[in-house]
Amino acid sequence: MAFDEYAAWTSALERLLRCCVMFARTVPPQAALAVAAFVVALAASPQEDPRREAVDRIVEESLARGEAYARLRSLCRIAPHRLSGSKGAEKAIRWARDIMERDGLENVRLEPCRVARWERGEVEELTLTSPPPLRGARLPILALGGSIATPEEGIEAGVIVVRSVEELRKRADEARGRIVLFNRPMDDANENPFQAYGGAVGQRRSGASEAARVGAVAALVRSLTTRLDDFPHTGAMQYAAGVPRIPAAAISTNGANRIAGLVEAGRDVRLRLRLDCRSHDPVESFNVVGELVGRELPDEIVVVGAHLDAWDVGEGAHDDGAGCVQALEVPRLLEKLGLRPRRTIRCVLFMNEENGVGGGNAYFRTHIDEMSRHVLAVESDRGGFTPRGFAVAGTDAARAEIAELVELLERTGVRDVDPGGGGADIGPMAQEGVPLVGFVPDPQRYFDYHHSARDVFAAVNRRELELGAAAIAGLVWLVADAEGTLPRAPIASSR
Ligand SMILES: [Zn+2]
Repeated sequence: MAFDEYAAWTSALERLLRCCVMFARTVPPQAALAVAAFVVALAASPQEDPRREAVDRIVEESLARGEAYARLRSLCRIAPHRLSGSKGAEKAIRWARDIMERDGLENVRLEPCRVARWERGEVEELTLTSPPPLRGARLPILALGGSIATPEEGIEAGVIVVRSVEELRKRADEARGRIVLFNRPMDDANENPFQAYGGAVGQRRSGASEAARVGAVAALVRSLTTRLDDFPHTGAMQYAAGVPRIPAAAISTNGANRIAGLVEAGRDVRLRLRLDCRSHDPVESFNVVGELVGRELPDEIVVVGAHLDAWDVGEGAHDDGAGCVQALEVPRLLEKLGLRPRRTIRCVLFMNEENGVGGGNAYFRTHIDEMSRHVLAVESDRGGFTPRGFAVAGTDAARAEIAELVELLERTGVRDVDPGGGGADIGPMAQEGVPLVGFVPDPQRYFDYHHSARDVFAAVNRRELELGAAAIAGLVWLVADAEGTLPRAPIASSR
């Protein structure tokens, strides 16, 4: 209840009580008592929705005694680098399973999936070799995930700076034999940084192959952040089939501006790039799964998940350690409060979101026969910031019902219920009509950290993180314990 409403309510109550006192002076005591009882009942009515009371308990438990923050600290210490197939990923899997077992979740298990395996290696160097006064100056880079290495001595070439693939194609002649710098910034004019990211991420994903098509020898991509600093932001890239493979790296925004400035000033800019990253054959890894089995409809399932893998720089704190500890909080908080829902809540920590979605795809295939009984899937993968709302991938009717539930969660700060994606790992379930929800915290700082050395535990705020866990736990509780289920989208897949 908002403060204004509360004030109006109490003043109305006060007026009513004053009337009652006057009334009591003029009527027999029994009648006065009956009226008083009615007034008391009226006063109690706003608290009577048991759902609101449950949500209040979830919020207070989460804020006062939540464990998300402490668990994030432990994940970031034990397995800061946990790219799929790495030793860190193995440690993270054990960490997650141990926590689920300690929390007393049911049916705790590791579900196999095949994942890409790529290693950064030891050498990452970008050096100016011309103009002569700057010879030897280093610029901060990170190899893009999936990139091949350069020859040991590196690749030395002139540079062409472009803002788009279209521009590159128009200037194809100039690009031959050169290193291409894709320098499109995230659009600062867009108030939604995730949309701005979406508008610029193509150059990272496919820039190398686009550059190779016009005969370039390597690709550099401006880091996807709205900050100007010296921290490169990595991320996945893919090679197109039938196109020569050339090495690709992300360069810091300051570094990209420096190169672009020199080129604009008409200087003869040459760079040497050295990388020794490498890909291996896919390996077996695991999603980590545990449940709070439903008290009435155990076969109906609400999934709450996040991805356990993270890039091999920083500590994967916001991306997506925060989501993992929030997802783990959902069954823990409910169990602790004695709130066992009608339906089963299944916590799934997915492997390999960052470079292949092997975990999300394996979950979908493994549970294909259960998809009609998945009533909702929720993912938290946008950082551990102040809760703002939820993005719903599903029908308008499902979104409207979720919007009604979100009104009960106002103490957590969630307000917005917008159309959008649920999350990469739960995405495949949309084919079977499962309503998907992505948790949406405040987006303005996410790309300050995303996929960079800055994404560390110290960058996460305890209150914001725990409040997010409360918002997610509240929504999951409301859906898992509801009488009916959310409307589903038509099935799109032909299995
Ligand atoms: Zn993520």
